[in-house]
Amino acid sequence: MVIINQNKMKPNDRVEQMVTRLKDGDHRITPQRLAIFKVLANSEGHPSAESIYGDLVENYPTMSLATVYKTLALLKQEGEVLELQFSDLGNRYDGNKPYPHPHVICTGCGEIVDPSLMDLEEITSKMMAETGFKIVAHRLDFYGICPKCQGNS
Ligand code: ZN
Ligand code: MN
Repeated sequence: MVIINQNKMKPNDRVEQMVTRLKDGDHRITPQRLAIFKVLANSEGHPSAESIYGDLVENYPTMSLATVYKTLALLKQEGEVLELQFSDLGNRYDGNKPYPHPHVICTGCGEIVDPSLMDLEEITSKMMAETGFKIVAHRLDFYGICPKCQGNS
């Protein structure tokens, strides 16, 4: 993993990238897999496997939760999805930015937002200088109450 400050790609470009990466890895692109790529690429939030399954089961009657899990595992293996593990929220997925980046998480409803990266490269450089580590990834979560849960809606 590499820490990069990459701008968000268009959903269609993300889908193309996932397809290309899986084909390069000799994996088949089934209609089910393609549908999962599209949900991930078009999701502004950070869906769970269950919510992806819920979005697709109506139009893809042969879709199973196991297929969603397997596809997510494959994408993770190919570096095309970021898996966020939470003890309370379960696993959530970011298919738009499949590299480490900070998250802001609502403890009320579980909404997860990507804040813009602020001086993260500078902080990382300072950490490497201070510790002598070669830093290759990070996990940076901020917890709070989203506007909706604050009752502002
Ligand atoms: Zn909330
Ligand atoms: Mn994210």
